[in-house]
Amino acid sequence: MPLIDQFGRTIHDLRISITDRCNYRCVYCRTGTYGAQYPELTLAEYLRMARVFVSLGITKIRLTGGEPLLRKDVIELVRQLHGLRTVEGKPPELAITTNGHLLAEMAEPLKQAGLDRVTVSMDAVDPERFARITRMPNGFESVLAGVRAARRAGLTPVKINCVLLRGFNEDQVEAFGRFAQQEQVSVRFIEFMPLEEGRVWSPEVVVTLAEVVERMAHFAPFHEIAHEPSSTSRRYVFDDGGAEFGVIAPVSLPFCGACSRIRLTSDGKIRTCLFSLREHDLRAAMSSADDEEMVRVIEYAIANKEERHHIGEPGFLQPGRSMVHIGG
Ligand code: SAM
Repeated sequence: MPLIDQFGRTIHDLRISITDRCNYRCVYCRTGTYGAQYPELTLAEYLRMARVFVSLGITKIRLTGGEPLLRKDVIELVRQLHGLRTVEGKPPELAITTNGHLLAEMAEPLKQAGLDRVTVSMDAVDPERFARITRMPNGFESVLAGVRAARRAGLTPVKINCVLLRGFNEDQVEAFGRFAQQEQVSVRFIEFMPLEEGRVWSPEVVVTLAEVVERMAHFAPFHEIAHEPSSTSRRYVFDDGGAEFGVIAPVSLPFCGACSRIRLTSDGKIRTCLFSLREHDLRAAMSSADDEEMVRVIEYAIANKEERHHIGEPGFLQPGRSMVHIGG
């Protein structure tokens, strides 16, 4: 039986944060500290949780953080996750979201371990701007090498996530169009959400889907292509072939009605929405030897998944955890 919530949404996509540490301090995400706020679990603990989720109907697992590649045991975790079998008897689809800084050396071993795809976050294609945003000198070269290594390793299609903020990097849209064509990657622009540590979000800062599309039209002609119903991204392909870009628009075009996701934080708490004000303690439920209590907690969490987020509405409450501590 698939995992279906009270609004009829089938939940098949699990995101696991395996650390809330990060080696980047992107100015729109972090206040400036490196440190973890929450404990990390062992590989065996994440694996046990993932096994129970998969036995209940999860078919896709994405590892995230913090920066997931900071955990050297991530390759072994991927190998063991690849050994799980979905309800249909297949290995789960495995992906990682990473800042790409350590990817050049890890792409091939990750592929060998069973990783299917990678999403690399890049908010500028200009090295200086990139350094200002990430507060990491010379990071751009490492990330570019990581993107290329991922393509060579066959972790394709390589997706690039770019968060746009007004007055900050919205002028990078066209340059990203060129980058998508040159590097044969799919760039996805993401609307900025109120999930930052420093509370700088306001509706005016959000660069909307409509604006991205308008800016990209100055670069080259393109047309929209079909997207899967549960996909968060509107997809476009350049008319002269090949390269694709997308826009993920949780603010101007919310997709909560098609949400198929559930999240696990690095300390083993289930979050049913990025904006959940309540978490479910799966780590605590692991103390009994059998999996029954874990199944109960997962089913309860899904039954109580929020209908939608309330970004921009009066009374909106920002969750206690910011993006880096939830797992983006
Ligand atoms: N360290 C990894 C990385 O950089 O991809 C994984 C974690 S990071 C929190 C995941 C993604 O969330 C990144 O693409 C980041 O740009 C994005 N992100 C962070 N804060 C955000 C916000 N307030 N709104 C939208 N996206 C955000």
